[in-house]
Amino acid sequence: MIEVVAGEQKRSKRMSPRSTVWVLGDQLNRNLAALQLADPSTHKVLFVQSQAKLESKTWHRQRAHLVITSMRRFAAELEAEGFEVDYRIARTLGDGLADHRGEHQPEHISATEPASWSGRELLLQHGVELVRTNQFLCHPDEFEAWVGSRKSLKMEDFYRWQRRRLGYLMDGEEPAEGKWNFDSENRERPPKDGRSWPEPVRNELDSLDRAVLADLPSTCWGAEPDGTWATSRAEAISRLRFAIDEILPRFGPHEDAMLSTSWHLAHTLLSPYLNLGLLHPTEVCDEIEIAYRAGLVPIASAEGLLRQIIGWREFVWGCYWHWMPSYRGRNELAANRPLPPVFLGKASTQMRCVESTLGAVHDHGYAHHIQRLMILGNLCLLAGVRPGELVEWMWASFVDGAEWVMLPNVLGMALYADGGLMATKPYASGGAYIDKMSDYCKDCVYDRKKRTGEDACPFTTLYWDFLARHEDKFARNPRVAQQVRAAHRLSDLDEVRGRAVQVLLRLDRGEL
Ligand code: SF4
Repeated sequence: MIEVVAGEQKRSKRMSPRSTVWVLGDQLNRNLAALQLADPSTHKVLFVQSQAKLESKTWHRQRAHLVITSMRRFAAELEAEGFEVDYRIARTLGDGLADHRGEHQPEHISATEPASWSGRELLLQHGVELVRTNQFLCHPDEFEAWVGSRKSLKMEDFYRWQRRRLGYLMDGEEPAEGKWNFDSENRERPPKDGRSWPEPVRNELDSLDRAVLADLPSTCWGAEPDGTWATSRAEAISRLRFAIDEILPRFGPHEDAMLSTSWHLAHTLLSPYLNLGLLHPTEVCDEIEIAYRAGLVPIASAEGLLRQIIGWREFVWGCYWHWMPSYRGRNELAANRPLPPVFLGKASTQMRCVESTLGAVHDHGYAHHIQRLMILGNLCLLAGVRPGELVEWMWASFVDGAEWVMLPNVLGMALYADGGLMATKPYASGGAYIDKMSDYCKDCVYDRKKRTGEDACPFTTLYWDFLARHEDKFARNPRVAQQVRAAHRLSDLDEVRGRAVQVLLRLDRGEL
């Protein structure tokens, strides 16, 4: 008996790894920095599923399911590779780490640099060695070098710098087909020909999916997962293949269009996998390049998607680190309205555009970039919703949500809460833009052309009210000054502003 115990102790002393790699829930890739260096003979792997995190927001069911299921599948993959995996469900991340330390006594714990400011602070406080992240193509240090002495940060400048240094869609020193930007070809109105858009790939849910769903807090909201969102690397790779073969050739021309009959149109739906680590941006960009060079996709489509990945996505990531931590408190327009109850499922709405977009969020945990910016963000901008509340809501509601995504996109792009650091003008619009880019208005009880009266479009009323309300702020902004003057000249401005008061009251009461 003693021999056996001694033998086991001896074997355990010889075999048990003395170092630990802690893998966070959005670092689910074997090739990410800290894990790339790990080997089953020298490292254990720690996952901590934090109950406090799960209870910290009113998460969309599909978002919570996606993250937890993906973590568990990845943990199982590492186990199959030979790693000793310690998957802990703990009250907090810190508690999980302390329990791991107590039980396994690792001599050394490392992790890939977390993707959030507070995550980095936490790990450093707990003595975890951070390995420089390779999850993005531009590390925050490289972004800082790019920023240098620039007074303003322009995505287009950053994007061209990225194209040049990474070499995607380049012919020598020149951009493929002679232009950096094909946006003008990618803003077509919704097609009227009734075309069908490829249905997203779906997987059958298995026993792990069902077990995770059964354990989610009762506060989670939204529809049950239908298998749209991949929860393993293998499935994410097959989604990438589908996106390149079936979606990319159609992506581009209608990327800004919104249709009540399709929640996805020709969007690739790859963002959750990129944000969780199931895919690396290099893999997506390489596939874009290959498909374009093979003549399978037009340049406007290839460039449009590349711009989203190495341009917007990496720019937002860099800005987050450049401006944090003070950025999260910005509220330039002193917006002070609570999030409308319709966002929280506590009211319905007759605004067709809002109803359709929120319906997609409920059903899929997803809305594409123009729905986020020009419907949900625009409404909150015009109404003066507290920036922090929209950040929290989008972070919890979208399958691809994260703080680094939502702070610059919501505070900077949607709400102008950073005073123009991110966008040089507020993205405010009335019903005319929404009507141009969607099929919503034709089925709406409101009239997008009217700014006063019971059936006036709330967006149109609030748009003019917003310009008048913030006249001081925007009168000297060259990109909005003309509209501010136009608002000032409206013969019925007093009536519009009176109607706006009613609209905001009804928005607050969930009666719009
Ligand atoms: Fe939205 Fe106004 Fe159009 Fe209705 S009329 S769908 S509220 S933009």
